[in-house]
Amino acid sequence: MSFAASPPGDPAYDAAAAVFNLAAPARPAAAVTARTVEEVRAAVRHARAAGLPVRVHTTGHAAGGAAPMDGALLIRTALDGPVEVDVAGRVARIPAGARWGAVVEATTPHGLVPPHGSAATVGVVGYLLRGGISFYGRAVGVAANSVRAIELVTADGELRRVDAEHDPELFRALRGGGGGFGVVTAVEVALFPATTVVAGSTFWPAEHAGALLRAWQKWTLDAPREAATSFRVLNLPPVPEVPAELRNGPMIGVDGVVLATDGAERALRQTDDLLDPLRAIARPALDAWQVAAPGAVLDIHMDPADPLPFVGDHMLLRRLDDSGIDEFVRVLGAGSGSPLVMAGLRQLGGALADPGPGGGVLDRIDAHYAYSGSAAPFPPLTEEEITRHCAVVRAALAPWDTGRTAPTFVDNRAQPQGHLSAEDVAAVDRVRARVDPTGLFGSDITPGATAR
Ligand SMILES: Cc1cc2nc3c(=O)[nH]c(=O)nc-3n(C[C@H](O)[C@H](O)[C@H](O)COP(=O)(O)OP(=O)(O)OC[C@H]3O[C@@H](n4cnc5c(N)ncnc54)[C@H](O)[C@@H]3O)c2cc1C
Repeated sequence: MSFAASPPGDPAYDAAAAVFNLAAPARPAAAVTARTVEEVRAAVRHARAAGLPVRVHTTGHAAGGAAPMDGALLIRTALDGPVEVDVAGRVARIPAGARWGAVVEATTPHGLVPPHGSAATVGVVGYLLRGGISFYGRAVGVAANSVRAIELVTADGELRRVDAEHDPELFRALRGGGGGFGVVTAVEVALFPATTVVAGSTFWPAEHAGALLRAWQKWTLDAPREAATSFRVLNLPPVPEVPAELRNGPMIGVDGVVLATDGAERALRQTDDLLDPLRAIARPALDAWQVAAPGAVLDIHMDPADPLPFVGDHMLLRRLDDSGIDEFVRVLGAGSGSPLVMAGLRQLGGALADPGPGGGVLDRIDAHYAYSGSAAPFPPLTEEEITRHCAVVRAALAPWDTGRTAPTFVDNRAQPQGHLSAEDVAAVDRVRARVDPTGLFGSDITPGATAR
């Protein structure tokens, strides 16, 4: 098949290179949108013959963490075809390019749910290859452990299907190994049964941050696995999409999901076990939790729906002690001067900390909380000011930093990253040396995921 990649200036280049994080534009030497496996194969063969390194993306949600693409051929995967649901087998086959919103739409009418993240717009493949932390993760584990098969085009231009029986080493390395193995064209993902959740969010003025964080943390320590929440400080802009009660930040927001595995009444009681002690600290400015279908989970976290520039930082944290809570409030709470629009803790633990039998190389996350904080550098706020405050938060929380990171939450390539042990890095490097001996995909590897 003949192949033509588009050069800069061509509208097809702009479409293929477009990213969700506008703070990190992709500027490859050439770009192509691949809609079929044959187009992916032609692109890989062309790059190999022309001596161009290959980069891959789907949505560019992770563009902030991506290395510069100078001199590379960028392949955007947007493969044709529907999300196919095997209802009896509880598996979805998902073409690369699909976003979680489309998968949830296809599976939930059957009472089945994938281990998706908080936003409908996130690409399935990039999320799963980097582990993936779902609000359901405390019940079902790291999302990549739910992957049953992966189809990819490797550096030799061949399509391979890998699973637990066929090249289990490559199958393991693909799931959390840091990339650089090839272009994924489809994945098969196990679904879990669920028809009802309790989902929502509650907000308070930030002057109560310390007491609220103490009560929230206490609840997280022995919370049921069906429940997962986040605790964030929000400085939301005064725009019509933001409810009036939340425009005079900073506000504290606790949001999340409780799976109604044993009925809605029990899930409502579990939700009140969390929220009643917090409601007793201060009257919420907004308090909206409801019994809902699982699709509602994509709406609770206030994620941006459209591309925008953002800059942020991330750490995996241990349990905070009293001084950790004080430090959190000092650098992020009322009077801190924090410019971060959203900054806070995602509750981990439960099945996220369990080794996944037959899981990927990143099969668990060994930390209590995932810290993330970010802002959009809209004038007068500058990228430098955001970065400076990220450093202030990092220094303040350093005593509770595990030094490890969850790859999906890294928005900044300059930040320290440590997803894998040295032994696992060596193992994934051995797989790369076998499937990509010339390093065609070498510049697509996450920092710290290779010793090459
Ligand atoms: C608003 C928002 C909400 C989020 N919520 C969550 C959440 O709840 N939980 C969570 O864990 N993460 C979350 N994330 C992070 C998200 O999971 C990562 O940014 C993820 O990498 C996005 O995947 P993508 O394919 O959309 O992004 P891209 O930037 O397109 O891809 C990221 C990387 O994945 C690889 N990749 C993508 N497609 C392919 C392919 N076809 N073949 C081979 N490699 C490929 C490439 O290495 C690429 O650099 C969120 C991000 C945003 C912006």
